[in-house]
This record gives sequence, structure tokens and C-alpha cells, in this order.
Amino acid sequence: MGRISWDQYFMAQSHLLALRSTCTRLMVGATIVRDNRIIAGGYNGSVSGSVHCIDEGCYVIDGHCVRTVHAEANALLQCAKFGVPTENASIYVTHFPCLQCCKQLIQSGIKFVYYAEDYHNHSYAVELFKEAGVETKKVKLNYLAVDTNYQKKAALVEQLIEKLDDSIIDKDEITEYKKEAEKLFSNH
Ligand SMILES: [Zn+2]
Ligand SMILES: [Zn+2]
Repeated sequence: MGRISWDQYFMAQSHLLALRSTCTRLMVGATIVRDNRIIAGGYNGSVSGSVHCIDEGCYVIDGHCVRTVHAEANALLQCAKFGVPTENASIYVTHFPCLQCCKQLIQSGIKFVYYAEDYHNHSYAVELFKEAGVETKKVKLNYLAVDTNYQKKAALVEQLIEKLDDSIIDKDEITEYKKEAEKLFSNH
């Protein structure tokens, strides 16, 4: 095990933050970084003190939940609240930013957007980022970097499935297990 890279470290932080999301329609986490220092973080959630989607259900208008402040916006607003400059900073997000967040990130002076998953990447957002000279780059979270037992778990599952091959269990069923295991352990 080597040292975790900065990219993986910040992306892992965003995935952790996503687990705090209070709207389950999409769990998003965002980490703002300057000079390899985390200056703010945010997740998809209601306005402070208000009810949460996970308790009361989503408030859906035109197919969108209107209750939450997006992760990227929450991270930027944390900077606004405490007077932390975001000029030339980077953001690590679990999902490609929506159009609204894209505009807010550009306007806040964010220069690098690293995202782990594509998410309806809006062509206008892509265009705006390019126009503003904001670099976007896909950085998938490598579970090998954050879970020191990852390889052991993968090896054990493989071993167990091999054992199944020698058993009387239906071959189609074993194939299903193999597919599931592949899905679980291929995300790196
Ligand atoms: Zn919601
Ligand atoms: Zn957004």
C-alpha cells in the first residue's frame, strides 16, 4: 500500500460527504480545495433547521426536488458564510455539476472541477466551463486507495465462487453471483 494520492483523498472526502445527504434522489458530496487544503465541504441537503426529504419525503415540482441546496452550492455558501476566498480553487464532486451549480462554480472563481460520475452532463454546462477556462476532469474513486482490505475481499469472493463451481448449485445461479461480484469489485 502506497500513500493515497491527493486526487483520491479529496474524492474520497466527497464520497463521505455524500453519505450525509438528506435527499435520497441523488446523494452528492463536494469538497473545495485550495493549495491541497480542504477549505469547505457540502452535501445535498435542506436549508439548516428545515425538514429533511428522508423524513418527510421530497418536495417535487416539475420532476425536481426543490427542497435541497446542492452539494456544490452548500460548499460555496460555507465559504461565503465564513469569508473564505474560492478564487482559483478546485472542487471535487461525486457527480458532474448541474447547470445551476456550474454557473455558481464559475462565478465563484473555481478553476478545476473533478467529478467521479457523469450525471446528465448538460451540454450548456460543458460549454460554459470551457468558455470560462474551467478545467473539468473525471476522477473515479479507486476503492483500493481507501479500503485497505479491498484486495483481500475481492480474492475471498473469487475463491468462494470457485468453490461454488464444484458444487451442485445451478450453473446459471453461479453465473449471477459472478456477475454481481464483478460489478462490486470492478469500480476501480
Ligand atoms: Zn428531496
Ligand atoms: Zn447542482
